[in-house]
Amino acid sequence: MIEVIDAWLRLAAVRLHDEAATLTALDQAIGDGDHGTNMDRGFAAIVAQVDGSAPEGDGDRAVAAARLRAAGRTLISTVGGAAGPLYGTAFMRAGGAIAVADGATSASEVAVAGLDAAIAGIQALGKATAGEKTMLDALLPAIAAGRADVARGADSADVIAAMAAAAEAGSKATIPLLATKGRASYLGERSIGHQDPGATSAALLLRALADVVAGD
Ligand code: ADP
Ligand code: MG
Repeated sequence: MIEVIDAWLRLAAVRLHDEAATLTALDQAIGDGDHGTNMDRGFAAIVAQVDGSAPEGDGDRAVAAARLRAAGRTLISTVGGAAGPLYGTAFMRAGGAIAVADGATSASEVAVAGLDAAIAGIQALGKATAGEKTMLDALLPAIAAGRADVARGADSADVIAAMAAAAEAGSKATIPLLATKGRASYLGERSIGHQDPGATSAALLLRALADVVAGD
């Protein structure tokens, strides 16, 4: 599992770097224009961590969990803004969940458990719910799609691809929403008509995971 996690973190860093200007432009429209550079900086720091060390842990899942927790701490200390603590908490919670997800046997069940815990962490910290034009509007459809596919018995690659597709659709569906949380909420009605940067980066992260699991 650690190979998948490390490949994911590396691919996410490359894509966030490539998309930094796009994410920043989205954040310029309804925020302060730092989301792309913030995420690029955070994931570059994570790659330095991945390059530097293999985490300690008793067993493959414990090692992968330690990597996610460390990535979360790095995001909190390097990303800043609202997204740093939110994504940082999400990665730390996901790590905690996959370490203890004994009932989860397949990779897709582990992914669902991880995303579920990540969302719970984001909601505990940011107090947002569906439809407030935040990263949750990508992540909540993703977990619903993942759960439905796991229940259908789909394989891991299909489950994670379904999560990524739902997150992408969810991020596009933020365009007509009124922002009621975070910096974009200061704009009131003027937040309508723009895609949320955090929902966009959340979809990017899930697409990177789907591509790694699919072996692309
Ligand atoms: P800041 O708004 O502090 O500049 P960023 O630009 O890095 O931080 O991140 C903005 C993104 O954070 C938003 O697009 C939104 O998706 C997300 N966000 C903001 N507040 C919340 C919240 N309370 N819950 C969930 N996500 C949030
Ligand atoms: Mg910003």
